[in-house]
Amino acid sequence: MAHIPVLTKEVLEYLNPKANENFVDATVGEGGHSAAIIEKNNPNGKILGIEWDSEVYNITKSRIAEFPDRIILVNDSYINLKEIVEKENFKPVNGILLDLGMSSYQLEKSGRGFSFMKNEMLDMRYNSGNQKSKIKNQNYITAENIVNEWSQEKIEEILNDYGEERFARQIAKKIVEKRKVKKISSTFELKDIIKEAMPSKFLYGKIHFATRTFQAIRITVNEELDNLTEFLPKAIEVLSSGGRLVVISFHSLEDRIVKSFFKNKSQQGLVKILTKKPIAVSRNEVLVNPRSRSAKLRAIIKN
Ligand code: SAH
Repeated sequence: MAHIPVLTKEVLEYLNPKANENFVDATVGEGGHSAAIIEKNNPNGKILGIEWDSEVYNITKSRIAEFPDRIILVNDSYINLKEIVEKENFKPVNGILLDLGMSSYQLEKSGRGFSFMKNEMLDMRYNSGNQKSKIKNQNYITAENIVNEWSQEKIEEILNDYGEERFARQIAKKIVEKRKVKKISSTFELKDIIKEAMPSKFLYGKIHFATRTFQAIRITVNEELDNLTEFLPKAIEVLSSGGRLVVISFHSLEDRIVKSFFKNKSQQGLVKILTKKPIAVSRNEVLVNPRSRSAKLRAIIKN
């Protein structure tokens, strides 16, 4: 299934694109939101789309032939926002959108182990080509490195911190026990280990029992919370006065970072908060797009 953009109506409401304005779509993905924005900033407004995943980038690149002069696509991480904007001489920046999380392509087609519903290798990197790791003294880490090489304590810590997984200790222990016998190399092996580690009455809750562990590993592999923290001040910096920043987050850890950053900048008098409370997704939207379930949107305007 193609990627369905989340909260599109609300993105347009808070980004408020007008004729000839320029926007950065910092996580352009398959271009769903960009397609909605480009209809509003015609005839001469532009979009600068950033996408880290080379495969997703290539798919989107081949699709945007329709607007060759108005959409610029860059295959890079949004943490380099400032440099990208300067290099592309993209100004003024009237608005920036950041839609965190995964695209449907990654979940359903990438074969990189993002989903516990498919039996794939344990990779989970958004960009398997040019990803560099700051944590470890090696070019990158994969989900397989984490589960097979990290200490039990370190695995427990990420499951706690990035998964808010109640059974972090039990799962970390079981992972280490199992890998002594055999290297853990597929999503289904990992899923079965999680299942074995959890008390059976918790296996059939509202969310799938493997959700939190997979989330924690993915966040770690891609350094997602660091990326977000690094991105936000840069976004304010490159925005022109009166420009807007809209962020859609997918779990409480991300939302907390966005919320406290916005509050801080508003207290410093640099921005105005447009969303007192985060905008959540309607029941109807969740029905047509289950991926949107946990999405929350927050927006600010630069003074
Ligand atoms: N708004 C898009 C969907 C975005 S899904 C649409 O409507 O189609 C999120 C995308 O962000 C994914 O494609 C993912 O690869 C990308 N991404 C994740 N981390 C990134 C980073 N650090 N820099 C740039 N893109 C990133």
